[in-house]
Amino acid sequence: MLLHQDRFISDADALETKDRHGPAIDRPIISQSLLQRPWQHAAALVRTSLRGVIDIVYPPSCIACQAATGQAQALCSQCWGALSFIERPYCERLGTPFAVDLGEGLISPAAIADPPVFARARAVCRFDGTARELVHRLKYGDRTDLALAMGRMMAQAGRDLLPDADLIVPVPLHRTRLWSRRFNQAGVLAQILTRQSGVALAPLALSRIKRTRQQVGLTRAQRADNLQGAFKVHPAARPDVEGRRILLVDDVLTTGSTANAAARALLRAGASAIDVLTFARVVTDGS
Ligand SMILES: [Zn+2]
Repeated sequence: MLLHQDRFISDADALETKDRHGPAIDRPIISQSLLQRPWQHAAALVRTSLRGVIDIVYPPSCIACQAATGQAQALCSQCWGALSFIERPYCERLGTPFAVDLGEGLISPAAIADPPVFARARAVCRFDGTARELVHRLKYGDRTDLALAMGRMMAQAGRDLLPDADLIVPVPLHRTRLWSRRFNQAGVLAQILTRQSGVALAPLALSRIKRTRQQVGLTRAQRADNLQGAFKVHPAARPDVEGRRILLVDDVLTTGSTANAAARALLRAGASAIDVLTFARVVTDGS
């Protein structure tokens, strides 16, 4: 029964995505297999639709601290104020905030010294406090309803990137990790972004073919080594990737090693450029 429901939602959503893209003549055609999402994504949608019904029974509460709020799937004013939003001035390549406003269109010394593989990265906020809590809950707490609020904030943070994007691709998990965690948080966020922007989604275009060890505690060189050959573009997705500007979506950007490795795989498959949009990013002083 659940499978049946999931398939129904998945197909309906695929149609909705196609409709928003209008006739096939002037829009990229995404092969049907790539529009089929893992059942976990569909399950998240079912939960989201049920939310409206649930709100009638249970009043809305803050997605971070559970305090009563006026709006469902939102943050209370206190938690909102606790997020360290990243606003301009920031490095146009890395998206890292500048302490002083020296004018528009500047590139940070870090981006000049070690240019990223991707073209531009943007994030809603710094990865600290409330942001860390939200990401953690989304990833490990099976709180896919959080994705809607986080995805909406990402659509706002990525307002310069989304109009240029031909395709949205989430950073994938290795299948063994996907099994243990049951869903890919990046995939759920990417799905929300597609619904917000109308940009086509290719959730299976990129796959993680190497099970990498945790990046925590590794040096920069070790991280790059760990991710060597970790991502691959599915052969069936190559026609959709070739010549396209791709928006890569993840929950957190830490050093950028994962985003760079994923971007490199997409560029090798013929993508024209890669932008990166995450909910949070680690900001270290001087970056
Ligand atoms: Zn709160």
